[in-house]
Amino acid sequence: MDNQAPPAPRWAGVGLLVIVLGVFVGLGMAFGFLRAAIACVMFVVISLFGSRQVRSMMRFPPDPEIADVSDYGLRYVCTMCGLELKIEKAAKDKAPTHCMEPMMLIRTGGRPPLTPVD
Ligand SMILES: [Zn+2]
Repeated sequence: MDNQAPPAPRWAGVGLLVIVLGVFVGLGMAFGFLRAAIACVMFVVISLFGSRQVRSMMRFPPDPEIADVSDYGLRYVCTMCGLELKIEKAAKDKAPTHCMEPMMLIRTGGRPPLTPVD
């Protein structure tokens, strides 16, 4: 699964460095270079953390691929109470649970699936 965001363009890092250096010199003249250095380091750390947070919020998982499996005769059976569910459409997902236990997948006739269905 490729969930990585594309890397930021190169000019963005250079532009950020130029801005930070300009602010460092300006603040250093006014408040002393130690305070300016602390401020610049905190600005860079906070802005990197914030942009990473925003990028991770903009990513969302892709929709699951749902396949019509109604011809395959797939059923989930609860091993505790015997409840049976016929599967019409399926995505790769966990088995449903009933009576606090995962249900068992069985096949009753029908054509076998072309691809394995979990
Ligand atoms: Zn049950």
